Amino acid sequence: MAEFCRLAQKHGLYVIVRPGPYVCAEWEMGGLPWWLLKKEDIRLRSNDPYYLERVGLFLKRLGQELAPLQLARGGNIIMVQVENEYGAYATDKAHVAKIRDLVREAGFTDVPLFQCDWSSTFQRNGLDDLLWTINFGTGADIDSQFKALKAARPDSPLMCSEFWSGWFDHWGRRHETRDADAMVRGIRDMLERGISFSLYMAHGGTTFGWWGGANNPAYSAMCSSYDYDAPIDEAGHATPKFDKLRALLQTYAESPLPEPPAPPPVVTVPAFTLDRAVSLFDTLPKPKTSEAIRPMEAFDQGWGAILYATRLPRAAKKGETLTIDETHDWAQVFADGRLLARLDRREKAFALTLPADLPAGTRLEILVEAMGRVNFGGSIHDRKGITRQVRLGEDVLTGWQVFSLPPGHAFAAAKAAKPGTHPAGPAYWVGDFTLTTVGDTFLDLRDWGKGMVWVNGHALGRFWEIGPQQTLFLPGCWLRKGRNEVIVLDLKGPRSPTLRGLDRPILDQLRGNLSDTHRKPGQDLDLSAETPVAEATLKAGGGWQTLAFPTPATGRYLCVEIRSVWREGPAAVAEVDLLGPDGKPLPREEWRALYADSEETRSANATADKVYDLQESTFWQTAPEAKAPHAIVLDLGAALQVTGLRILPRAEKGAPGQPKACRVFLKNAPFRL
Ligand code: CA
Repeated sequence: MAEFCRLAQKHGLYVIVRPGPYVCAEWEMGGLPWWLLKKEDIRLRSNDPYYLERVGLFLKRLGQELAPLQLARGGNIIMVQVENEYGAYATDKAHVAKIRDLVREAGFTDVPLFQCDWSSTFQRNGLDDLLWTINFGTGADIDSQFKALKAARPDSPLMCSEFWSGWFDHWGRRHETRDADAMVRGIRDMLERGISFSLYMAHGGTTFGWWGGANNPAYSAMCSSYDYDAPIDEAGHATPKFDKLRALLQTYAESPLPEPPAPPPVVTVPAFTLDRAVSLFDTLPKPKTSEAIRPMEAFDQGWGAILYATRLPRAAKKGETLTIDETHDWAQVFADGRLLARLDRREKAFALTLPADLPAGTRLEILVEAMGRVNFGGSIHDRKGITRQVRLGEDVLTGWQVFSLPPGHAFAAAKAAKPGTHPAGPAYWVGDFTLTTVGDTFLDLRDWGKGMVWVNGHALGRFWEIGPQQTLFLPGCWLRKGRNEVIVLDLKGPRSPTLRGLDRPILDQLRGNLSDTHRKPGQDLDLSAETPVAEATLKAGGGWQTLAFPTPATGRYLCVEIRSVWREGPAAVAEVDLLGPDGKPLPREEWRALYADSEETRSANATADKVYDLQESTFWQTAPEAKAPHAIVLDLGAALQVTGLRILPRAEKGAPGQPKACRVFLKNAPFRL
């Protein structure tokens, strides 16, 4: 980190340090280390004594590196951030104050300290002696973003500490982009008002290896590419968005801006076969034993895959339910080596119906791949493997052998892959290719299933056939003239064990069979026999609005009906909260979208689950051709006692979709679809 700061200083740049330790950033567990979860009752991002002790050690070490590089001490660090978007997580000023104190104790006493949040949340934890900055993205209305901050602190400097130039991709969801002209307009609006800003991202790059995080609810892991549709693309090339940004900045610069450097060289690699292989089941490490199921962390494993094996204590009948509670995050279930089912946490698929009778003593194997740990919201306590128990019918299964399969290169490279074998199912594959010229390339994984790739000892990242990312960025600095070695762990199995290097990425090819919308063919919500628990006409204009119920209601199934919108066009909702008996928002981790009359998935990722994904900048929007009334139906996971509903319309400047007349239904029985 010190080296990075010195490099920036050498090139005339200042540095703003945002050390967390929680940083979000679509990074595994938001930057927190997995081993914190070995403590079963840990409360992350709170004044839990163990958590604070570890944070203190981390910040102290960081201070040894970076405190000497503060501006007043001859370095280039001009500001240091305290925690990160804490208002989107909790209201706990005492904790934010404690992190502030630890940052100071680490030696950051000669620069301003600041905290960043959203315009809707910054006052929850605002400390009097810190600067406050606001995060928002392309399309935001600059004046309304800073309205509350200006009112609270009329003399404070204004800064957007994260201006989101694009957005990140999730496996199985449409590739995200943000309009270049809208990004430039937002930046121009800030420049005209003398508002400081930091681009998030100027260059997004790659989340190499297994470091990508996940969002929840609904659980969805990040792709390895962090291209982000940023002005500088994943491979370091200037894009048309960069050119537009540069042209804007030129109009504010006193002298001509330097020309962008030449793009890094790119090479292609002809198709080659990974001609050695070994089945994962033929090269298992020594197991540990555990009477009860326990998550991966309990076996001192942080990432990768884990195999749980036991024998059935009794005969099982075809049609019985095998429950794997919960699968974090993608599991394959085998009976005596035969694949029974694949379970995917994104679908909350934690059970299967046995397709055949199984005799007592059948060897049951459950291979679970951990995807990214949740990096945002209360679900950051995200343990991997199987988190609770496995049940056959009502019988809890015990007596497990547990095989840890970590994702490091050394573990994969030690597997004795043999030529001439073509294992079906989970396997390691090894092959070589030869280069005469070295450059960046994009490995084409379209023939492969799901897993991880290493090249010359470097973990490139995850791949998954469902997309939208189909290629992995392979930087030329990891390649060499002559022979280069590739290892692929494919947990599912390739269609053909071949790879090639392309001269451009494929980041926008979805191949999932999961429907990305929630309305099944033939479904049509019928509310004619239903009685609303609340009805209201919402005000025009942005921001959260609350519908208090005339009397509290209880139910598991929620329907929000939008009967009209303020402006001709689609309906759009960014977030929905339900308020509990204490008037505070209820947790949304167990929510699931069951239905939406219409979802815009052609021009945007605007599905119904966006109303409870904790992100104010993502939204459900109906397709342009869909006519009101519109409605979404959610399963809350359990009957909840509710006193009101909070709704946040889509936030961008001039965006359509503001709901007007609304009705809310809440009941214990499912709605008729
Ligand atoms: Ca949202």
